[in-house]
Amino acid sequence: MTNLAIAASELRKSYGDKVVLDGIDLAVPEGTIFSLLGPNGAGKTTAVKILSTLISPDGGEISVGGHDLSTGGQAVRAAIGVTGQFSAVDGLITGEENMLLMADLHHLSKQEGRRIAAELLARFDLADAAGKPASTYSGGMKRRLDIAMTLVGSPRIIFLDEPTTGLDPRSRHNMWQIIRQLVTDGVTVFLTTQYLEEADELADRIAVLNHGKIVAEGTAEQLKRLVPGGHVQLRFTDPEGYRHAGAALPDAHRDDEALALQVASDGSQRQLRAVLDRLDAAGIEADELTVHTPDLDDVFFALTSKPAGQSAGQPADQSVEVVR
Ligand code: ADP
Repeated sequence: MTNLAIAASELRKSYGDKVVLDGIDLAVPEGTIFSLLGPNGAGKTTAVKILSTLISPDGGEISVGGHDLSTGGQAVRAAIGVTGQFSAVDGLITGEENMLLMADLHHLSKQEGRRIAAELLARFDLADAAGKPASTYSGGMKRRLDIAMTLVGSPRIIFLDEPTTGLDPRSRHNMWQIIRQLVTDGVTVFLTTQYLEEADELADRIAVLNHGKIVAEGTAEQLKRLVPGGHVQLRFTDPEGYRHAGAALPDAHRDDEALALQVASDGSQRQLRAVLDRLDAAGIEADELTVHTPDLDDVFFALTSKPAGQSAGQPADQSVEVVR
């Protein structure tokens, strides 16, 4: 069985009357990227603050790095690193001085601190800027310095709270590379993001948080199958073949100009086979076949567009499926 880097059950937090986390469960296997995805105000930062011991939950059982959060806060803090919205970078001192300060906090010797600082600054492409005040760095450089500072303590689990919010596309891709490299090195990453593309690119598993509840969880592919919009498209070069196929698949949406048929499908092998079987039975072969699954945008909007208590993007009598 895989070990869990983070496990939480029935995690609850309210501020006054406002329920921010309404009993959420999380399971993040070691060495994976888990993304908590949700609109602004969904409770993502609150979850990160609780899991990283910055604030206390009102209820729930939580284990991080194998330590119970309620009794082993110190051991949890030794195992984790947190970067993101509350950056630790001090703009008045240089990048290198920020790194050395971090090395001091981790009680590294002067020599060891300098060695690690130089190594990390080089790894994050900050060696040339190391002697300049951090306030002169670009947004992307500051985020890289922030992650480099977190790595001084060799954390096994890193919480990245919206690490690319506000970054330009190049810096964002750069950050994605860094995050992938962290996982290659064996680190577990808990990533919060508002960007669907980011979760799709990076995460092994995604949980969608809305109104304090996890409304869906699974791989990006599993989540995409939750919402309608997917279809199989069949194209023909021969009008006769197109006409026969249309007769064999009477439910298909027809595009007479393009000689193309669209059959609604969840993208699963079973549904694809059903379409192919019907074509085979009629002795028809399409010239081109493509499977379109809805993208994560469709899923996100379907799952987060309705008020609390209602399932969205699903027939009224069906609750939103949680993929395990
Ligand atoms: P996200 O990170 O998903 O944008 P947050 O976790 O920051 O969401 O916030 C979730 C909700 O909790 C918001 O409505 C926010 O206003 C509220 N909230 C967060 N921190 C506090 C606090 N210290 N006091 C009162 N309300 C808070």
